[in-house]
Amino acid sequence: MPESSAQLIDGKVYAERLRARVAEEVAALKASHGIQPGLAVVLVGDDPASQIYVRSKGEQSLAAGMHSVTHRLPEDTTQAELERLVAELNVDPLIHGILVQLPLPKHLDEKPILALLNPDKDVDGLTVANAGRLAQSLPALVPCTPMGCMILLRDVLGDLTGKRAVVVGRSVLVGRPIAQLLLQADCTVTIAHSRTADLPAVCREADILVAAVGRPRMIKGDWIKPGAAVIDVGINRVPFDDPIKAAEGRTKVVGDVDFKQASQVAGWLTPAPGGVGPMTVAVLLQNTVTAAKMQAGLI
Ligand code: NDP
Repeated sequence: MPESSAQLIDGKVYAERLRARVAEEVAALKASHGIQPGLAVVLVGDDPASQIYVRSKGEQSLAAGMHSVTHRLPEDTTQAELERLVAELNVDPLIHGILVQLPLPKHLDEKPILALLNPDKDVDGLTVANAGRLAQSLPALVPCTPMGCMILLRDVLGDLTGKRAVVVGRSVLVGRPIAQLLLQADCTVTIAHSRTADLPAVCREADILVAAVGRPRMIKGDWIKPGAAVIDVGINRVPFDDPIKAAEGRTKVVGDVDFKQASQVAGWLTPAPGGVGPMTVAVLLQNTVTAAKMQAGLI
């Protein structure tokens, strides 16, 4: 058997391309209408992974020529203080997109925050309004990771009409919106989850298999239809295979798909890390430009 039959989908390359296109759109919007798309990112507390994500969102939006503000709030921020900030950003004319970095510290409730968020500025696509618009195929701000997956799939497969798609995971953030987007692209979609019977057999039906589970290397090679396009959304921290590094407590990131096995069966495969992940921030920038255009009545 060859070392690897799958073609790898390099998310870093796609993300770089998308960021370049966003930077061009930002420049054009400034030149033609005097609008500089503005993104506000709100981080509460000091979760190390969230700090990294937030820093990269700030840096990348600035690099694309956008107005960028990061609000770093202390861990003991109250619900009322956070809601007050979101309410201010909702009406700030310089801000077109608002992203509240999740998860929030345990004492804060994200539901009222999302309910308060102006759907036109909801660049993470998490409000009920945007989820509803997506479900009805109306123009919407779509969650960034699912949109990133679709950009990759459309590029490698072209027209998706009639393809059998299986999404493993039904979260509001990832699984459901990906399924909606695949449905809009005329795929025949199955959403699998923790109660799905005979998950391997369900997965084997897929021309497009999307794993958004949060379980390291759960999807095995023999769950994959030969030649399928496999999109691995998972980000899981596991100890290193090397026992010395593992003993030092060092960890690495792996996806929800067993990469080694999948790469011998799949036709296309996203590595994790380096596949879907880099697309998420690039799509966030794109969504902010879309939001700015929508708010200006340009689309
Ligand atoms: P959630 O925990 O919200 O959802 C996980 C889903 O997987 C649930 O629907 C759950 O089913 C299902 N599931 C759990 N265990 C099994 C199982 N044994 N068999 C079948 N289905 C199962 O996670 P998210 O959707 O937020 O994230 C999924 C993964 O994607 C995580 O690893 C996360 O880190 C990653 N992620 C990556 C991003 C990126 O930028 N690349 C962005 C966002 C997330 P049920 O509903 O029945 O409980």
